[in-house]
Amino acid sequence: MSALAYNYKRKNISFSRGKGSYLYTSRGIKYLDFIQGIAVNSLGHSNPGLNKAIKEQSKKVWHVSNAFKIPEGEKLAKKLAKRTFADSIIFQNSGAEATETAIKVARRYFYSIGKPKKNRIICIKNSFHGRTIAAIHASGSKKMTEGFGPKVQGFDHFEFGDHKKIKKLIKKNTAAVMIETVMGEGGIKVIPHWCIKAIRKLCNEKGILLILDEVQCGIGRSGKFFAFEYANVKPDIVPIAKGIGGGFPIGAVLMTKKVAKAMVPGTHGSTFGGNPLAMAVGNAVLDQLNRSLLNNVNKMSKYFMHELNEIKIKYPKVIKEVRGVGLLIGLQLFKDQTEFIKKLMENKLLTIRAAENVIRILPPLNVKKREIDIALKIISKVCNEIK
Ligand SMILES: *Cc1c(COP(=O)(O)O)cnc(C)c1O
Repeated sequence: MSALAYNYKRKNISFSRGKGSYLYTSRGIKYLDFIQGIAVNSLGHSNPGLNKAIKEQSKKVWHVSNAFKIPEGEKLAKKLAKRTFADSIIFQNSGAEATETAIKVARRYFYSIGKPKKNRIICIKNSFHGRTIAAIHASGSKKMTEGFGPKVQGFDHFEFGDHKKIKKLIKKNTAAVMIETVMGEGGIKVIPHWCIKAIRKLCNEKGILLILDEVQCGIGRSGKFFAFEYANVKPDIVPIAKGIGGGFPIGAVLMTKKVAKAMVPGTHGSTFGGNPLAMAVGNAVLDQLNRSLLNNVNKMSKYFMHELNEIKIKYPKVIKEVRGVGLLIGLQLFKDQTEFIKKLMENKLLTIRAAENVIRILPPLNVKKREIDIALKIISKVCNEIK
């Protein structure tokens, strides 16, 4: 009997080490890991640069209170600001904290300009913004909120694709629209670029803020630093997490000056958020996230998607759609994906489910072509077995 709570249905397998795209069990069995901790280990397992950063920082200082200046955090914030729309950053420890903070920033902004009643947030029904009490209600998923009442007020929802509804939902008391640029848990659904553009325009017209949740699709995963760059828009607030820490828990909220001004001393805080150890790792991740790494994401994505589509043509009754962007890839099946994922795992390829019968494929951003070829071979084999 495990002393761990049963809130996860875990597979009966554990790993004792990892290297790059691979994970190894204690008995040395090797798995191609195309989950990477759910888009977290952006540079693969046991990355030498990250190992060095954590080792060196651990000998200096791990944690100090945010009552003091933290130079490693200043440095990471500066790097993020330099590469993005953002002027100002708040560090957190996880994605849910980052999305909640994004909501707080939006509300506090309107409060600070004398419009405290402008506090409602419009989100997509069955999206995913994390598991805290506010975040589950923002996600608007029955499954996630069930049994966790009372309902947290302040969120309005529209269905994915129902663009017209957004306009109707915007009322005097609306503060922001918050959407994932690419819906991850929801089934790797890419919001069309024209739609993101139109929402930005609508937000401008109505004087409300645009929050783009890039916790999963951000930090290079899409082939650009942020996925919204494809739509050529500038959001007001962007929560990030997963990929920025390369495996170390880091979350952050990126903001423009305009909204950041509202976050004066005392409005928000975090004991752990932005501590020197986390910031050292974040800096090391960004140091490797250069043009050549993004080129690799794009090149590998193009190849992977093309080959997956070839497999789809060969097995049209198994694979319904290949979708996604960069190395955030979804393989949608016609039927439940559980058996397929199990078979991939038996063949030593790790993938993870998303909604709508989707198998999520999330290689590290530095994945090699030969590793993708191994995955393709296994996927093809399983299609043949399952057809
Ligand atoms: C994973 C995820 C979150 C929540 O992140 P946690 O670190 O698990 O709290 C929020 N938003 C999106 C889009 C995510 O994919």
